[in-house]
Parts: sequence; structure tokens; C-alpha cells
Amino acid sequence: VVQLENIKKSFAGNEVLKGIDLSVNKSEVVVIMGPSGSGKSTLLRCITYLEEPNEGIIRVGQRSLIAGEKLNKGRKSIISEIRKNTGFVFQQFNLFPHKTAIENVMEGPIVIKKMQREKARKLAESLLEKVGLGERTHHYPSQLSGGQQQRVAIARALSMEPMVMLYDEPTSALDPELVREVLLVMKELAQEGMTMVVVTHEMGFAREVADRIIFMDGGVIVEEGTPEQIFNSPREERTKRFLSKSE
Ligand code: ATP
Ligand code: MG
Repeated sequence: VVQLENIKKSFAGNEVLKGIDLSVNKSEVVVIMGPSGSGKSTLLRCITYLEEPNEGIIRVGQRSLIAGEKLNKGRKSIISEIRKNTGFVFQQFNLFPHKTAIENVMEGPIVIKKMQREKARKLAESLLEKVGLGERTHHYPSQLSGGQQQRVAIARALSMEPMVMLYDEPTSALDPELVREVLLVMKELAQEGMTMVVVTHEMGFAREVADRIIFMDGGVIVEEGTPEQIFNSPREERTKRFLSKSE
């Protein structure tokens, strides 16, 4: 579903991604871990061209982009296709504050997919139901807890029927008691076969839900493997050190 080839990204001469290769198969759950500044967010942002890589190839579904080519009309339309096909969930929930939960979820289908309003409403209702917010559809973000807001953000991402969901530390901004409800929704989606790439420090989630764990440090993939391999017998010293500090 997603394929990255030799992705490199620098900010002002500082190389943050140093040639990342990664492919994510359909229904696979890939968890990315690594210390602060290792390039995890930048990598996710490169997948959707929120950051343009300096080098490398990005493929999402049938669409592919080679970094460095000039931004003409065809290329812009490929970028927007890729964004339509990826659901992005951020640490800060990024909901529209002046829209209710259901309006937040309906927005994408109506504006981007030109879906009829009634159909979009039905879809949004079913998605909010799915993330456990069937009773909160007319609440504004300010009237919802952080965990509820993040679940609205997940429903909103799902409303575009993405081929892949990208999560960037979706629970890091939450009070500890609200983390579980969000992870639970993500786990259910994984079990239904959603393809996902998740940057998280939640070791329990990684162990239980990931098919594969990628450990990044200093802009490279240091090590990858099943949760079993990474947690029980990491090969690399850097991985061992990171895990011993976080557990
Ligand atoms: P964290 O765990 O703290 O979220 P991360 O692994 O997500 O870290 P990134 O946010 O990808 O790390 O950042 C990697 C490096 O790139 C950092 O040194 C950061 O300062 C730098 N960086 C990221 N975005 C930019 C930007 N827009 N301009 C300049 N430097 C940036
Ligand atoms: Mg980050």
C-alpha cells in the first residue's frame, strides 16, 4: 500500500532522514519508535508530502512521486490523490473548533468527495458510533475530553475511506486515563484490517497490535522486526538502550 524508497530530507543542511526504505502491506500495522528528533514525524509527513523529500520515491496505492521534480499541475493532482487516500491523525487533534463532532467528520466527504449532505451525515453518524461517540455527535470540540476529541479526529480521517492511516503520537497529548480509549479504537480498526503506520511510545500497544516494529534513530532505520524480536531480543545496542530507558 505504501512504499518508500531511499527517502532523504534535510532542513537547512541538517539531514534528518538519511535514506529510508519502507514498505507497508495491506492490513499491516507498522509501529515506528525511536528517540525524540530521530525523524519519525518528518517521515510520516513526507509520505503525504506535507514535507517534500529532497530525494527518493513515495508510492501510495497506484500513485507515485519522485522527489525533486517540479510542481506542475499533474504532480499537484497526484499529491492531492495521495492525501485523499491517507488518513492523518496528529498529536494535537486539529479539529475545527467552531464545528460540532459530526460536522467535523462530514466536512471531508462533502468538500473533497462532493458527497451529498445526507449521505455524509449518515456516514459520519456511523463512524462516530464506531469510535464510541454516538451520543456526542453535536458536541463542539471544547465540550469533549481530549480522548473524545482524538476519537473524533480518527472518525474524521476514516470518513475519507483512506487506504492507510498514519498516526503521529496520537495519545501523547492525553491525560493518562484517556489514553486507553483511543488505543482501543485503534486496535479495533487494526483488527478489522486497516493498514496503519503508527508513531507511538506506547509499548503495550506496539507489543500487542503491531505486525512489525521499526526502530529509528538519527534519520535511519536502525532495526526492524516483529514485536517479539524487538522487545525480547533486540540486535542493536541503540535499540536495547532505548527500550531499557522507556520501560
Ligand atoms: P519527536 O519524538 O520529538 O516527535 P521526531 O522523531 O518526530 O521527534 P522530527 O520531528 O521528525 O523528529 O524531527 C527530526 C529533526 O528535524 C529534529 O532535529 C527537528 O528539529 C528537525 N525538524 C523537523 N521539522 C523541521 C522544520 N520544519 N524545520 C527545521 N527543522 C525541522
Ligand atoms: Mg514527532
